[in-house]
Amino acid sequence: MKHLAIGILLAVTGLSAQADLKVFATVPEWGALAKEIGGDKVRVYTATNAFQDPHRIEAKPSLLAQARQANLVVAAGADLEIGWLPLVLRDSGNSAIQTGRPGYFEAASFVNRLDVPATLDRSHGDVHAAGNPHIHLDPRNVLKVGEALTARMAELDAANAAGYQAAFRTFAGKWQGAIARWEKEAAPLKGVPVLVHHQSFVYLSNWLGLKEVGSLEPKPGIEPTSGHLTGLLSRQQTAPAKMVLRAAYQQEGPSQWIAGKTGMPAVLLPYTVGGTSEAKDLFGLYDDTIQRLLKGMH
Ligand SMILES: [Zn+2]
Repeated sequence: MKHLAIGILLAVTGLSAQADLKVFATVPEWGALAKEIGGDKVRVYTATNAFQDPHRIEAKPSLLAQARQANLVVAAGADLEIGWLPLVLRDSGNSAIQTGRPGYFEAASFVNRLDVPATLDRSHGDVHAAGNPHIHLDPRNVLKVGEALTARMAELDAANAAGYQAAFRTFAGKWQGAIARWEKEAAPLKGVPVLVHHQSFVYLSNWLGLKEVGSLEPKPGIEPTSGHLTGLLSRQQTAPAKMVLRAAYQQEGPSQWIAGKTGMPAVLLPYTVGGTSEAKDLFGLYDDTIQRLLKGMH
């Protein structure tokens, strides 16, 4: 009876013990971060999974329905979702989550972006004009984004602000410890030349000192062609790469082909949370990424 009475009271006053904030995350990494900060005070809907190319998502009715209810959109930004998110926002009819409103959050705007082009020329492919948006594979960026996201969640849901801040402090403490461990484990990767399928690992390479010597895509966002792959193969004579990296969402054919011709290992990286069975959360994503890179060295 007592529980029932409390339940009724909560319903009447409009308070709810759980899921105060509805978060619409465009990609798994930022959905995972929102969960770390929000715990059971948030309901996180993640619009895509690790096996989908986040640049190319269909603005399906199910996404619109979720966006319509959301209090906060957490996007990667820097044009990663430019092909689909603007449509979802527009058609959601939800004024709270439009660009520029507190309910719209872009992770990439809180970090230093790499590969910002000096000049814009779309003939160079699907160039990311605001710099490379795949910022989550430098764990120091995850901390910066986490700090900003905590502030935003606290602003939108003041009743739970202290809880979000405390959860982020706990996460950040564990995360800093993990960064130190990852950097130690990954030390043998420093200076190792690699090929990448798409430029989705530049922040990882920059952090760990991997040397990207080529991309399987002739231009960013353009699928590998046999001519381009043959060119990469001949460059192996002068500038040999030690492994070829791809994200879980990318087709394996091109990297398998170049691995078969050269004997270098084709290494699949989870890229985001859920990309491999080990990458269950943000910690697992990094643990597994580094283990797979180290394995590729042998
Ligand atoms: Zn990209």
